[in-house]
Amino acid sequence: MSEIEVDHLVIGAGFAGLCAAIKLDESGERDFVVVEKDSDVGGTWHINTYPGAECDVPSQLYSYSFALNPDWSKVYSPQQEIWEYTKRVAERAGVLDRFVLGTAVDDAHWDAGRQRWLVNTSAVGSGARTTYAARTVIAGSGGLSEPSLPDIEGIESFAGATFHSARWNHDVDLTGKRVAVIGTGASAIQLVPEVAKVAGRLDVYQRTPNWIIPRNERHFSTLEKTLFRHVPGVQRAVRAGVYAMLEARVPAFTRFPRAMAAVEAQVKRNIAQGISDPELRAKVTPTYRAGCKRILVSNKWYPALDRDNVELITDGIARVTPTGIVTADGTEREVDVLVIATGFHVTDPPIAQHLTGREGRTLADVWAKTGMRAYKGTTIHGFPNLFQLVGPNTALGHSSMIFIIESQVRYVVDAVTTMRRQEWATVEPTLAAQEQWSAAVQRRMRRTVWTTGGCASWYLDQFGHNTTLWPGQTFTFRRRLARFDPEQYDVTALSSVSDDKGTPTAKEAVSA
Ligand code: NAP
Repeated sequence: MSEIEVDHLVIGAGFAGLCAAIKLDESGERDFVVVEKDSDVGGTWHINTYPGAECDVPSQLYSYSFALNPDWSKVYSPQQEIWEYTKRVAERAGVLDRFVLGTAVDDAHWDAGRQRWLVNTSAVGSGARTTYAARTVIAGSGGLSEPSLPDIEGIESFAGATFHSARWNHDVDLTGKRVAVIGTGASAIQLVPEVAKVAGRLDVYQRTPNWIIPRNERHFSTLEKTLFRHVPGVQRAVRAGVYAMLEARVPAFTRFPRAMAAVEAQVKRNIAQGISDPELRAKVTPTYRAGCKRILVSNKWYPALDRDNVELITDGIARVTPTGIVTADGTEREVDVLVIATGFHVTDPPIAQHLTGREGRTLADVWAKTGMRAYKGTTIHGFPNLFQLVGPNTALGHSSMIFIIESQVRYVVDAVTTMRRQEWATVEPTLAAQEQWSAAVQRRMRRTVWTTGGCASWYLDQFGHNTTLWPGQTFTFRRRLARFDPEQYDVTALSSVSDDKGTPTAKEAVSA
């Protein structure tokens, strides 16, 4: 197995990993590789190709601040456009020569003697293995990358085609078929209206209804796009307006959940407009406070459920048989295709099983005992020189994750350039700093709608703590991460023991 020394190894080529690569490069930190198991850049926007996949954050905000796109076709961009945008940004930034695509990170462990992460990777397909010895690891593998499959009796016995929403099988023609979709979350509400148009019959299995607000669905006019492209400041002003509008909603989530009553009234009007049957209306009306689970955005979901070929089933699923689904009341509905839209592993991210820190424990082991914890959502005690993008309590329910990613990447780049300037080999947050940060975040959770709203959601971990979302405005997060703060870290000076084994640099190896 070959070994390559690099300064930085970035895991994942989605929005987070790509941002890290671009900003490392700009800062002069050019000796890095980005290892991505998928065959292309784009992360979730390359992988999620289910019909109807679109962003539910307005396009003007769902882009990097340093790479605005005047050509978005619609207020909410479709998946293909976002994926193409990430490819374009990567090409223009000139960083793709250090991307190792189609290669999975098998495991990574901290080698205290060499003061490096040893990261074992294997090429998807050939299995060819390479080890990277990296000073830092920047994990951008995404919070929503590993499908969560439901633990339903008999599901593996189903004889027809079955696939997860995030692994759509385009070879299966759904025309005229009997299709079942399990789950009614953000992915399902986008794919169900499209599948309903072609399926002979569509059974939608709902465990809990969501609050779904209407969306301002329209294409940008040629005039708007021309203004965005040619008149300085116009697109930035529109972006700032969208940002401010979304941030204005934060207090209702974090401090005044009762204000969500206005959202609930709006959703009920949306339901009344979309669904004629009173019984169906009752089934889709949630009983918990809006915002407790992610508020969804769609004009198509309720009309889709109202179609004659669609049935919303709210009886719990008892088991799956080779030919269909049996609900708790004993009814069996036969289906040809089973679509699993049950979300992702969020509070137990699989990457944590593959990272072994200073004390020989995996991050998954550590977090199994404490829940996910990281200083500023980014660095982790016991895991020197590891930077986690989209880490604990950094996710958002109200705005664009790209804002958070850029905030974290600034912090990380400041950290690694500080390390170089100060000739530090390692930085690791103190346990006290991490605990204080986590405790402060959890204190702020107490009044939030995610805690008080009366729902069970994937934001919460096994201890009932919300270790997923940032409980505040995004500009507060950015301010808190404005500069790397070594006073909260244990640092060590570069060892006198040279670890230079004469192995090739990242750029030499990737281009070889
Ligand atoms: P999700 O929001 O977690 O929804 C999963 C659905 O499956 C829920 O309705 C859940 O019901 C149901 N479910 C889970 N386990 C089940 C089981 N064992 N039996 C029956 N039902 C089960 O997942 P998602 O729809 O894939 O979306 C995940 C996240 O991806 C979103 O919140 C969002 O952050 C992101 N996303 C974003 C966009 C976008 O436009 N930007 C689009 C799609 C997804 P319960 O509610 O009862 O748990």
